[in-house]
Amino acid sequence: AFIVMLMVKDHHVHVYRTAASTDHLTGVLNRRAFIETAQTLCKRQAKRGEPVAVLMFDLDHFKSINDRFGHSTGDEVLRLFARVTRASTRLNDIIGRFGGEEFIAIVPGGLEVAQKIAERVRTAFENAGAVIESQPIGATVSIGAAASYDATTPIDALIAKADAALYRAKHDGRNRVIVTESENASERARLIAAARRTRPFGMAAFARISQRNKSVRSA
Ligand code: GH3
Ligand code: MG
Ligand code: MG
Repeated sequence: AFIVMLMVKDHHVHVYRTAASTDHLTGVLNRRAFIETAQTLCKRQAKRGEPVAVLMFDLDHFKSINDRFGHSTGDEVLRLFARVTRASTRLNDIIGRFGGEEFIAIVPGGLEVAQKIAERVRTAFENAGAVIESQPIGATVSIGAAASYDATTPIDALIAKADAALYRAKHDGRNRVIVTESENASERARLIAAARRTRPFGMAAFARISQRNKSVRSA
């Protein structure tokens, strides 16, 4: 009986914790829980000397979707976006609702990983959002992403970079992905020097990343 009691208590603690960290409408992490979990991932990646990438999502013309199809259809579009994003990412990737029709994700990996995930989410949502509940909604998402090869970069700085990229995605016409590196020139020089010291054969790959344009724009 004692063990059963402990198990029930444990279950309740789990239920309360989950409720406190979850966005009720979409089931992804709420803003506070996202930041906490993201910081843990950054620490882990920093320890391993591996990069992290932040993706910011903002649904396109969402106000117009609410206006034309009603608020409850709008809610269904938000739920759909969360489902599509979960299905397009890995279990280790962390997804949160940042507010309104804005979502955020943090993933272990650099520029190329961010670009791939973002493009996968964008395409999947464009397909799934075309018709919802038999209505021609045509929902799409704009995505900005930033990757840092130094995971000790404060999460706020990375979010700000991703947000700036998202702003450009909106400005350039929406339903698109813009990805930027977060290093400034001196940080990049330091990383290249470190790579030269520790990984002479990894330089080719590093040089490729460095030569790439600051931003990569998907078609
Ligand atoms: P843009 O393409 O520039 O992002 O335009 P937008 O219309 O998506 O952006 P805007 O910020 O003008 O509108 C966001 C709308 O999202 C307004 C707000 O009423 C709606 N919204 C915020 N939270 C919810 C919600 O939980 N459910 C529903 N249905 N609508 C929401
Ligand atoms: Mg918005
Ligand atoms: Mg929007």
